[in-house]
Amino acid sequence: MAVFCSNCGTAAAAGAGICSTCNMPIGVGAASAGAAPVASAAPTYAPQAAAQKGGNTLSTLAIVFGAISALFLPVLFGPVAIILAAIGKSKKESRSTVALIVAIGGLVVGMVFGFIVGYMNATN
Ligand SMILES: [Zn+2]
Repeated sequence: MAVFCSNCGTAAAAGAGICSTCNMPIGVGAASAGAAPVASAAPTYAPQAAAQKGGNTLSTLAIVFGAISALFLPVLFGPVAIILAAIGKSKKESRSTVALIVAIGGLVVGMVFGFIVGYMNATN
């Protein structure tokens, strides 16, 4: 079974690696088609590896503290969560933006909640 050079069209043996006329690799199309899934899988894996390498420890802590601050002591946990998220952002943690939103949201919700509770206690 003959293989034709994709560059110049010269027929070559199926096992031939390089075209005898133009010295271009034979069967590049078939080889790259086989390699394509691997090549496309690599970029999707790389960001995950980078995220794991960078870690989300501070962002995760910030999200936890942000959630706590919505329920308990927002004056204490809110700023801690925001600081952790800010440090995470400076370290380019992938979840730091979400963490910052949760931290600020937790602080605001906690303070509003605390204000409502305090207001209800004051009126009773
Ligand atoms: Zn050729």
